Amino acid sequence: MTTCYMCDNEATSVEHAPPKCLFPKNRDLPAGTNLRRNLITVPSCEAHNQETSTDDEYLLYVLVINIVSNQIAQNHFFGAIMRGIERNPSLIQRFSQTPMPVITQDTVTGEIASSFAVQIEYERFKNSIDKLV
Ligand SMILES: [Zn+2]
Repeated sequence: MTTCYMCDNEATSVEHAPPKCLFPKNRDLPAGTNLRRNLITVPSCEAHNQETSTDDEYLLYVLVINIVSNQIAQNHFFGAIMRGIERNPSLIQRFSQTPMPVITQDTVTGEIASSFAVQIEYERFKNSIDKLV
């Protein structure tokens, strides 16, 4: 019997590790780029496979909402994340409940900009990272 990657229950499915949603779909990438090719899967019980989808989405939001993200993350934000927010605004509303205005300075150009910082759900974020590890 193959056991789940998170518990001793029988694995009945597989789960991507790291979660597939962290990687942009091809339609949100330059032509010919595929970041979902050859992703790793691990055996999972039904409970651990299903319970993680909203946590995976939360982790994605935390990662791409970061001001120091690269171009791929920015494209992911304006593609999949914006479509997700339009579909179900509850996750992003949880972020926007605790915005704190901040002033940022680009360490390369010196450009100063206004932005905001948010309080993340630490335990939820930590659980997602624990599952990745
Ligand atoms: Zn399990």
